[in-house]
Amino acid sequence: MISEHASPLATIGGVDAGGQNIYVAHTARHLASLGYAVDIFTRRDSPDLPDIVDWMPGIRVINVHAGPPSFVRKESLLPYMAQFARAVVDHAREQRDAGTPYAVCHAHFFMSGLVARRLKQALGVPYVVTFHALGRVRLMHQPHDEFPPQRCILEQMVIDTADAVVAECPQDELDLARHYATPVSRVRMIPCGFDPEELQPVTRSEARRHLGLPAERPIVLQLGRMVPRKGVDTVIRALGILERRYKLSPLLLIVGGESAEPDPRRTPEIGRLQSVADEEGVRADVQFVGQRPRSALRYFYSAADVFVTMPWYEPFGITPVEAMACGVPVIGARVGGVQYSVEDGRTGFLVEARNADALARRLAHVFSDPSIPRLLGKRARRRAFERFTWQRVARSLADLYAEVATAAALTRPAVAQGN
Ligand code: UDP
Repeated sequence: MISEHASPLATIGGVDAGGQNIYVAHTARHLASLGYAVDIFTRRDSPDLPDIVDWMPGIRVINVHAGPPSFVRKESLLPYMAQFARAVVDHAREQRDAGTPYAVCHAHFFMSGLVARRLKQALGVPYVVTFHALGRVRLMHQPHDEFPPQRCILEQMVIDTADAVVAECPQDELDLARHYATPVSRVRMIPCGFDPEELQPVTRSEARRHLGLPAERPIVLQLGRMVPRKGVDTVIRALGILERRYKLSPLLLIVGGESAEPDPRRTPEIGRLQSVADEEGVRADVQFVGQRPRSALRYFYSAADVFVTMPWYEPFGITPVEAMACGVPVIGARVGGVQYSVEDGRTGFLVEARNADALARRLAHVFSDPSIPRLLGKRARRRAFERFTWQRVARSLADLYAEVATAAALTRPAVAQGN
């Protein structure tokens, strides 16, 4: 696997550490338990990192020297990718010469896709790519982003030479076809997931006691990376509407950020959101929690009556699935993967992105009768288990790798033994 900016060993919740890191970590773990030996190449972003970490049986994390050994925003990483690719190709050549060649490469994000493309050209290793976000989709929503202008052209090159492209949800599949003319035959829809051991629900009362939260007050949870496109401001505005129009005042918990303390200097987005809460007159009802480790998440999800996610766009969105796994209904924006994971009216509700009025209306509906979130939550949990475990995801990936590796072997020219 190649995941240039997202190491499976990073602390999750900051600007550039979220779903992709989780995806790589969990799929690697399950692939290893299916018998795969997995090497994960990621950029060395701290001088303290060893070159190779034996992470767990069957999985190594290879910290590639490319650019400074410090954090570099993903928007600024492209210039280092040629160096990254050279290191990966050298390593892969050593693997081959030692008699353990890579059978298949799975690239994550477009820059890793470029490395995989280079590896295929150099050594014939077939590759699968998951983009996690597509430049053309992002530009529709964030026209002034700071990625290099050639991003979309590079994505197209990566798609054109890929053996398979993973779409994370039906919308992603459509975007790949519509914006990149990706042939349907090379796209495989495989969603993201959750880990049932990590996200076992606890009772609401126990979760609240554990976190020191009020036992009876309605609680709305927002959890994820703190970046404007996640639309957390819409959630805060909905809280204002809920109080003024519906005379309801739930507690809004906001988990995520660069540090465990919700510090606006470390996480400027928190500062911006605090001003929105001031404007709405709900500052006292919004609790910024800060970043939380994986082991704490089940308490936050289980303490909530409803989970809310209002991104402008969302390639998949793991957090709604995690909430569902804990038996919590989701009200989400009708975009990307959210409209796939959430079944409108059955496991939660979908509302228009950026529409605080619509969100407030749905929240009022959910809080109007305690049996509503209970019923939705029960169905949500069932749906999460039926479709979205990492184990299932890894099995689908393993099937795809096997197909890709076999097809590549069939087209590879025979090499005479002993040469
Ligand atoms: N996350 C976490 N701690 C935090 C905030 C977020 O572990 O404090 C995790 C969250 O549980 C989820 C991931 O970060 O697994 C975010 O993934 P998602 O797909 O929702 O969003 P992305 O980061 O891909 O935009």
